[in-house]
Amino acid sequence: MMQYDHPVPTSFLLDEEHRSLILTWSDEHESIHSWEKLRWACPCAWCAGEGGQPGMLQSRQSLSEEETTLVNLEPVGRYGLTPVWADGHRTGIFTYEKLRSMCECDECQKKTAKK
Ligand SMILES: [Zn+2]
Ligand SMILES: [Zn+2]
Repeated sequence: MMQYDHPVPTSFLLDEEHRSLILTWSDEHESIHSWEKLRWACPCAWCAGEGGQPGMLQSRQSLSEEETTLVNLEPVGRYGLTPVWADGHRTGIFTYEKLRSMCECDECQKKTAKK
């Protein structure tokens, strides 16, 4: 068994006013993710492409409100979450690590800027 000591999300909140997802982590960090950015980052084969084939997102200039409205988050094993979108799309798996690295809070933004 691989030791997995990365922080894990313990709860989430959908902030409809700001169209953002707020995740609370086991190390007490609160990460912020705009729905729009999450949708554009969907890593599934349909959106991001697979085996050299371009995905749906590469052919789009913009996404509809439905496509960027997050309605739920479902756990995937013990390593990731699947966002469920208002248009029914739910095949993108975001690992905890990826989600955490996408945090848009000031603190994390400063850290990535330094790198
Ligand atoms: Zn997708
Ligand atoms: Zn953060």
